[in-house]
Amino acid sequence: MNETINEMIIKCPACGVEGLAKSIMKEMEIPHFGNVMETTILCPSCGFKHSDIIALEQNDPAKYVLEINKNNLSIRVVRSQSATVIIPEIGVKVEPGPKSEGYVTNVEGVLTRFESAVKKALTLFEDAESQKNAKDTLNQIQELKKGNSTATLIILDPFGQSNIVSENVEIFEIPDEELHDLKTGFSHIE
Ligand SMILES: [Zn+2]
Repeated sequence: MNETINEMIIKCPACGVEGLAKSIMKEMEIPHFGNVMETTILCPSCGFKHSDIIALEQNDPAKYVLEINKNNLSIRVVRSQSATVIIPEIGVKVEPGPKSEGYVTNVEGVLTRFESAVKKALTLFEDAESQKNAKDTLNQIQELKKGNSTATLIILDPFGQSNIVSENVEIFEIPDEELHDLKTGFSHIE
């Protein structure tokens, strides 16, 4: 990957401290995808961290579908801030929101993110049913990470700025009625 990195000292968007927070802009070329810009803001004063990734090319809405299996765990995944990520077989879904982050990772990294979210849910919801459901989900995610089972990874991106970089990925158009229901992360009404 070719990378260009620019760092800037900025005022922290969370705590407002001057002269400490850093904005790191990394422009890189992802093979078979194109140029992307990854921006990370880090504040050593309050611990604020936010990253986002944008494709520097504008694309059509797209749905990316890949089977998760032991041979696909290291496939590169680009998730833009406006993408919805779903693994239907285990009932997990991440929708874009004000706090959602764009990132470049691999299939295993996506599973790790879901794993952390479920672990967090385990500490938040204490009733027996939630605990059981969360533990079942966690177990299924961990089996996928070990390559012991298979499931489907679906990324829906209204701006087509995400990608799964593999010849095994299937890319579909998103039908208008489905597109209408997708959250974009820009307006978020619950
Ligand atoms: Zn701060």
